[in-house]
Amino acid sequence: IRNQLAKAEKMDAVSQMSAAISHEIRNPLTSVKGFLQLLQENSYPEEKKKEFIKIAMDEIDRAEVVINDYLTFSKAALEKEEEIEVGNELEQVLKTFEHKAIQSGINIQTTFVPGLSIRGDKVKFKQGLINLLKNAIEAMPGGGTLTIRTYRSDLEIHILINDTGIGMTEEQLSRLGEPYYSTKGKHGTGLGMMVTFSIIRAMRGKVDVNSRPGKGTSFRIIFPSY
Ligand code: ADP
Ligand code: MG
Repeated sequence: IRNQLAKAEKMDAVSQMSAAISHEIRNPLTSVKGFLQLLQENSYPEEKKKEFIKIAMDEIDRAEVVINDYLTFSKAALEKEEEIEVGNELEQVLKTFEHKAIQSGINIQTTFVPGLSIRGDKVKFKQGLINLLKNAIEAMPGGGTLTIRTYRSDLEIHILINDTGIGMTEEQLSRLGEPYYSTKGKHGTGLGMMVTFSIIRAMRGKVDVNSRPGKGTSFRIIFPSY
């Protein structure tokens, strides 16, 4: 029964993601195609052409942002179940944020206990972390501290991610992970946390979130150890 449940949860994650991807990517593609057709079939004044091209480019940018929230490490599309050394993956993902963190005046503090392993798909696990860390960094536009720790407790592996950013109200916190829920306007997709939660669930993990407006947010992710 346990196994079937895990499989059902994986299906859930995959089908949720593909539904959202097709929605979020197909719309901009359709609109870009429409503008190209207009330009092909009619002759417009230079001004009008520029306007159409600008809209089409914005739509493409938008699709790119959505793809980034889902598939930063998109090479391995196959779902794998492998041993994941948590600290190694965190180090790797953090490297991709170093530049952004320095730019925003964010200090990153890490304490990784070596040799903590969990099971799952490495690519997906990294994507889940990326979405979380991206939010943490975006929550500290004026600088702050990002603290990441790992440790083992009984038969579980804990990953703690804490930021000193803008935080969330209770209402915002309760909507976290809802598809398309974003407070970032055109800079957000509202898909990142849905993807992250799906991935963690598919890996039989749990998440606890605490947040206080103006103080910051902390995530505790707990996986069965391996
Ligand atoms: P997006 O980042 O595109 O808005 P997400 O699904 O990644 O979408 O996050 C949804 C919303 O949750 C964000 O718009 C933000 O309001 C809130 N949020 C997520 N993580 C944090 C955080 N670390 N600090 C403050 N707010 C956060
Ligand atoms: Mg996000």
